[in-house]
Amino acid sequence: MGTRSVRHSRASLAGLLAALLVSAGCFVGGVSGPEPGAERPARSADPSVTRADGTTSVAEFADDVAAAQAVAERYWAARFRESGQRFQPIRRITPYQRSGEVSCGGQPLPRNNAVYCSQGDFIAYDVTWSVAAFRQVGDAFVFYLLGHEYAHGIQVRLGIRYDFTIQQELQADCMAGAYLGDSVRSGDLTLEDGDLEEFREGLAAVGDDPDQPWFAEGSHGTAEQRTDSFFRGYEQSLAACDLG
Ligand SMILES: [Zn+2]
Repeated sequence: MGTRSVRHSRASLAGLLAALLVSAGCFVGGVSGPEPGAERPARSADPSVTRADGTTSVAEFADDVAAAQAVAERYWAARFRESGQRFQPIRRITPYQRSGEVSCGGQPLPRNNAVYCSQGDFIAYDVTWSVAAFRQVGDAFVFYLLGHEYAHGIQVRLGIRYDFTIQQELQADCMAGAYLGDSVRSGDLTLEDGDLEEFREGLAAVGDDPDQPWFAEGSHGTAEQRTDSFFRGYEQSLAACDLG
């Protein structure tokens, strides 16, 4: 508990993140199947681009996820308390190693993915793939990824269901920004130099392919849209996220 410091990170990471978060499937309100690119092989970890502060082991990655989870739970518990509602944390966060080891609503989760599953109310991630990815990305972005998936659980709790996935996804980016920005402002989370830049670089790298129609199932938004949504939430808190 208390202040959690996100260690400093810096490097170019566009290619890796494209492989990482394009494939971060988000099973909002049901099983929509892995998103385009989910089956694309993750770029293997190249030791020459390992960040000095990047996550280096499964145990360390699990620690970062647990820390991000704790910050998110404190944040959302306080928001729900403020509005007089009871808060139920997301039931569990489950690492997996093999395709099909974890299922969401009867559908086996593929390798190289991270999702929120509304049936069962859990977040699951391929741990081997995640550790390889974040070894290069740096660890601050773990806080973004957890915050984004956690936001999908909050959307379910609030009964928010948009017609298009892009609306659901951009709102989740905004909510992830709000949880991070507000937690920094409250002193619950400390960022270091370069962490904001890491978020910016990361979001710039995970925008949809320009050829993808915005209304397509699985669309998350362009790099610009995702960056705008995240930083709107980061700077202006939840008021910017249209939670109603
Ligand atoms: Zn999502």
